[in-house]
Amino acid sequence: MRFPLALTLKIAKHIVGHKIKRTPRFAMVLQLEPLHTCNLTCTGCGRIREYSTSLKDMVPLERCLEAAKECDAPMVSICGGEPLIYPKIEELVVGLRNQGRIIYICTNAMFMRKKMREYMAAHYDVSMEEKLGRLVSANLVTEKDAETIRKSDPAARAKVTIKPSKWMYWNVHVDGLEYTHDLIVEREGVFKECVEAIKMAKILDYQVATNTTVYRETESAELEEMFKYLSWLGVDGHTISPGYDYDAAKKDMVKRLGKDPKAFFLTRDLTRIKFKDIERWGQLFTIFGTPVYQEFLSGKRELTCTAWAIPTFNVRGWKAPCYLMTDGHYNGYQEMLTKVNWESYGVVNGVARDPRCENCMVHCGYDPSGALGTNYQSGDNWKNFRYNFGIKPKPFPQGDKVFAFNGQSVGKGHLAEAKAAVAGAFAAAPKSVFQRNGHHDHSGSDAGADTSQRDALLAKLGSNGTKSTTPTDGSTHGSES
Ligand code: SF4
Ligand code: SF4
Repeated sequence: MRFPLALTLKIAKHIVGHKIKRTPRFAMVLQLEPLHTCNLTCTGCGRIREYSTSLKDMVPLERCLEAAKECDAPMVSICGGEPLIYPKIEELVVGLRNQGRIIYICTNAMFMRKKMREYMAAHYDVSMEEKLGRLVSANLVTEKDAETIRKSDPAARAKVTIKPSKWMYWNVHVDGLEYTHDLIVEREGVFKECVEAIKMAKILDYQVATNTTVYRETESAELEEMFKYLSWLGVDGHTISPGYDYDAAKKDMVKRLGKDPKAFFLTRDLTRIKFKDIERWGQLFTIFGTPVYQEFLSGKRELTCTAWAIPTFNVRGWKAPCYLMTDGHYNGYQEMLTKVNWESYGVVNGVARDPRCENCMVHCGYDPSGALGTNYQSGDNWKNFRYNFGIKPKPFPQGDKVFAFNGQSVGKGHLAEAKAAVAGAFAAAPKSVFQRNGHHDHSGSDAGADTSQRDALLAKLGSNGTKSTTPTDGSTHGSES
């Protein structure tokens, strides 16, 4: 089965129960954002921009748990921001499990290994030695950390931790292979950390999913290579969604990066081109979601938006109408369901009811439509059943042949050219403009450790009067690496 039986049955029971009661609208997945703070600043992330004035605010643990009860979605996706920064993340996971929910922790993976070491320290006994040995041999845990785990003190033993469970997935954000991913998250080394965290999680028997957002410059061929690699790593399933040109991300792109959003986000037509192979990928890899949504993405049919099925709750309340677009926040899920005019959103038969929805085909608006049968066509139920109950694709056998580390790891990261140019300019003119102006100097021996943006480096290079051969308008973004 693509998705574990117990979890599939739980979701099926939830849908059937509401269908019998004829509930017009109900929640399938709660997008729970306990905070919007993040350690990264990914290009295209609207969250950290839209909520930039409330980055320090957090939803109290009890309110998070109440929100889950209130909408009663069988699945909760804990996102943000970076949820592993939330101080009560462990208690939140435990609380949601006690409510019987399926949990996804949507993370950029930078703190995952730390959280897993904490789990090992809290539960260490000699039976963990074999796994610990494998982790040390694979350089996923240092000898020093292994000793700390073995000799964990009472405080470490008493700590609530995130344990492996069939009801919980680490859901790691991966937008491409090394070069592309690091470029999109605007920091080198992040892809490598994602891979190491995934490897460690699989050794420790956690379930791992990945989520990928596809942008205009993401090549379909690269996505297929990425799935081969992730599948070979043992990832249990993947969600994939087209990037959406929502206001907050668009404004940031213009203001901060000086880029044209049209060069970055997908239109409907382009989405269908990028996703032309999605059904084939669904056979080769464990793509989560419904085949009906896959048909929609590849242009074979239309669906109407069911954003109310994947509601978002955050520091300001229930966000309407959807995860991406904000026309208001409400105090209660039922209040939001009642007060929002859902008929004014989405695209029906190719016509946008709201111009902002025109290019949207995102997972959180349309995947539930496939599961809920809102645009039912004969055979859809059987198609969904066969897909989810069918044999789970095996890990891709030659994933190790994928050229996954095509960026920083081989000296060709997206900052490499800028660093070389800056270093070259520094060598030619040791008393740089940066020094004269009193700016921090990125051009010396620290350059290799510097993770600031390529554009920032190039801007500094530009101020030094040296011409660069690297475009700064995003035209090389991602892709053709
Ligand atoms: S890791 Fe997630 S929340 Fe953080 S900046 Fe990137 S997309 Fe946004
Ligand atoms: S189509 Fe639905 S999910 Fe997409 S932006 Fe509009 S309301 Fe949101």
